[in-house]
Amino acid sequence: MARLTFLGAAGVVSGSRHLLQGGGGRVLVDCGLFQGEKRLQQRNWEPLGVPPQSLNAVVLTHAHIDHSGWLPRLVRDGFRGPILATPATVDLLDLLLYDSAKCQAEDAAYANRKGYSALRPALPLYEERHVAAALEWVRAVERGAWFEPVGGIRCRYYDAGHMLGSGFLEVEVTERGGRRPLRIVFSGDVGRYDAPLYYDPAPPPACDYLVCESTYGDRDHSPDRPLDDLEKVVKEAVARGGMMLVAAFAVGRAQQLVYLLRTLMATGRIPELPIWVDSPMAVEATAIFRRHAAEHDLSEARMAGVAEAAVSPFVHLAGTAAESKAINHHTGPGIVIASSGMMNGGRILHHLARRLPDEKTTVIVAGFQAKGTRGRRLLDRAETIRIHGRDIPVRAVVRQIDAFSGHADRAELGRWLAGMPRPEKVFLVHGEPPAARGMAEFLASTRGWHCDLPTIGQSFDLPIPDPS
Ligand SMILES: [Zn+2]
Repeated sequence: MARLTFLGAAGVVSGSRHLLQGGGGRVLVDCGLFQGEKRLQQRNWEPLGVPPQSLNAVVLTHAHIDHSGWLPRLVRDGFRGPILATPATVDLLDLLLYDSAKCQAEDAAYANRKGYSALRPALPLYEERHVAAALEWVRAVERGAWFEPVGGIRCRYYDAGHMLGSGFLEVEVTERGGRRPLRIVFSGDVGRYDAPLYYDPAPPPACDYLVCESTYGDRDHSPDRPLDDLEKVVKEAVARGGMMLVAAFAVGRAQQLVYLLRTLMATGRIPELPIWVDSPMAVEATAIFRRHAAEHDLSEARMAGVAEAAVSPFVHLAGTAAESKAINHHTGPGIVIASSGMMNGGRILHHLARRLPDEKTTVIVAGFQAKGTRGRRLLDRAETIRIHGRDIPVRAVVRQIDAFSGHADRAELGRWLAGMPRPEKVFLVHGEPPAARGMAEFLASTRGWHCDLPTIGQSFDLPIPDPS
């Protein structure tokens, strides 16, 4: 009988790792890094929970670090087998995993220099050589076609509309002598409907067991359009006369923001302002978007717009640290887009440390902010934020733009599941407890579905349901 074990993203939104055993094999669906609170980050240093050598394959839903960022550790710890992903995800992994190693090296070096780490010396979780070793095992599989990570288990990707290359998975487990295959759907992260950049999530097929994300299971996003929201926030910020700091993920979000900001400027809805994209990774990501044109609905013309915007006198790409530091001298309104999106690392930290004490500054939060991250603390109106061992007073104004969320809200998850017949069991993952509970109540009241909210380490047998 097939068996499912939740090794991460259960009761939290990071560290996605779901172990599927069945058909004589073991497949890990996603291999994410834990992010956010210290106690969660600590888990990245702990072993997987099953011997990595015992896994036959890893199948990834998408390239976000909370779904892929533990791969270098998994291979370092002994995993030897294919890591399967869509072609665009494969390209992004290269970019994101090396960036992850770099961020960890920088954080560790900074901690050692300033002497504030509890670990002495502070060490990175993995290094570039571990990333290179993991990438050796990565193989691309086309969307829509069945593939077999191991005999007895076959999988197929559908468009999840969440990021470039993202897919949810239909999985079939065939046991020797079984009367039919067992069907499981892993949602990965589900995107939004009518979002700029990505296609709508494809409708999911019927299944016996559903493993569904619940990031925003207890709320619905504002119905405002991204352009209108952005216009309002930028106008306020310009009136305040200071800089706008946008914490944004370099892949997808940064491209979307530059495009929308330039659109607002070109149509006179906001004044012409300098924009700094303070991320070498954002430039490389734009090239990957171009290479996978069929994966998103930003037409070639609009992509050209992004490229043109990137060399316009108003958009400055800060590739080197010196270029990044030069932004410090700017006074008056302007926009800095830098990562990380949850302000847990990256160049955004230097800008925050410098500009948070200034009441003219506006910080724009454009994506989900997990508990324990600086982004969440800013949204919760913290008076000070700790950056590089110093408490920085927060006098800046903090604004959130819902429309930029990459995750379906409760109503959109309901829409995504609308055509699905009731599965035997539904497991809600990738949500903090209030969100997962909210989603469970929503599915109970609207569909009559009973949901399980697994905890990390919990296992479930998945018998083939009796025909009813
Ligand atoms: Zn994601």
